[in-house]
This record gives sequence, C-alpha cells and structure tokens, in this order.
Amino acid sequence: MKVCKKCGTLYNEKEGPCPKCYTEDLLISGEAAKHEIDTDMTPEEAEKARKKSWIQILIGMPLFIGFIYIIFLLIRLMK
Ligand SMILES: [Zn+2]
Repeated sequence: MKVCKKCGTLYNEKEGPCPKCYTEDLLISGEAAKHEIDTDMTPEEAEKARKKSWIQILIGMPLFIGFIYIIFLLIRLMK
C-alpha cells in the first residue's frame, strides 16, 4: 500500500495511480474538453458573431454621434 502525496488516500501501487486523483484528473480534463468545444466556434457561428458586432457598430455609432450632438446643443443653450 502507498499513500498518495496529493490527497493522502491509501492505494495499491500495483493497480496504478491513486484512484481518487485519477478520477479527479479525468473530470478536470473532461471539463477542459467541454470548455474547448464551447469556445471553439464553427465558421457559421463566427460569421454570425461578426455580423452582430457590425450591427452593434452601425447602431452604436449614430447613437454616439447623436449623444455628442445633444451635449453640444445643451452647451449652446446654456450660454
Ligand atoms: Zn490522490
């Protein structure tokens, strides 16, 4: 029998690595793989995201200009 240096679990050296750490490692790598799938966008999704950002710019820019214009008008009115 051997004591795991990471978690202190007693395990049989001959049967392989610490079963507790081994399953934890599997879970972590599984989570990492899942996350990779989530962040890895398909070309279609990337195109959609790009279009969405363009729409945001097209809507946001006139709003921003309008906002500056309103402030400019207010400053003029205050004088
Ligand atoms: Zn362990």
